[in-house]
Amino acid sequence: MRTPIIAGNWKMNKTMAETKAMITELAPKVKDANAEVVLCVPYTDIQTAKRAAKGTNIKIGAENVHWAESGAFTGEVSAAMLKELKCDYVIIGHSERRQYFGETDETVNKRTQAALAAKIRPIVCVGETEEERENGLTEKVLERQIVEGLKGFKSKDFDKIVIAYEPVWAIGTGKTATATDANTTIGYIRHLLAKKFHKSIAEKTRIQYGGSMNVKNCKELMKEEEIDGGLIGGASLKPDDFAFIVNYDK
Ligand code: PEP
Repeated sequence: MRTPIIAGNWKMNKTMAETKAMITELAPKVKDANAEVVLCVPYTDIQTAKRAAKGTNIKIGAENVHWAESGAFTGEVSAAMLKELKCDYVIIGHSERRQYFGETDETVNKRTQAALAAKIRPIVCVGETEEERENGLTEKVLERQIVEGLKGFKSKDFDKIVIAYEPVWAIGTGKTATATDANTTIGYIRHLLAKKFHKSIAEKTRIQYGGSMNVKNCKELMKEEEIDGGLIGGASLKPDDFAFIVNYDK
């Protein structure tokens, strides 16, 4: 049995004061959740978020991590730094990082290695663009992202790695993959994990759906067999909406 995981991705939103207010309001609304609850927040909010979430079931993550231990990488943050803040999770390879900041499958792989070495759980994002989808390339793109991005990882690593399938055309656009389509594509990712890694890895790895998941569509998406949770952007900024999604099974 895979425990569902609902994770928020705040992107470049919320000050420290807003972080404290949001988590204080959210915590009682999600305290009985059956899913694992995670908020991935800007670096500057991590310490405030950890303090506000202390004693609750809300785990805190970052939105990126560099692979080097230290050095001349202006603007970057290492896994050891995140570990010191007691970060539980980190998002890696989000499509916005791939699109605007030159993230590649190779850097996704290196960042994932660094996170695991620091005992931080990586949420590795994959997904096709609209153009790739229209050209019938979805499966090919996902295969490349999974094979290259997760190359070299062992079975025990997949106890920690979460995969987020996020079709790029559905992120922040209000367009959602239908529950059936999302289920089929996530089923394909699971098939890839079995073929390229091992059947047991395919069975145990949690795969989220992400892309305009909200209060209206979360129940339908979460009913699907292959979907083990959601990575939520816009709707994770509002306590009531995020709590509703976390409590999708109530
Ligand atoms: C995301 O940023 O990972 C995301 C899924 O965003 P949204 O929910 O706003 O589409």
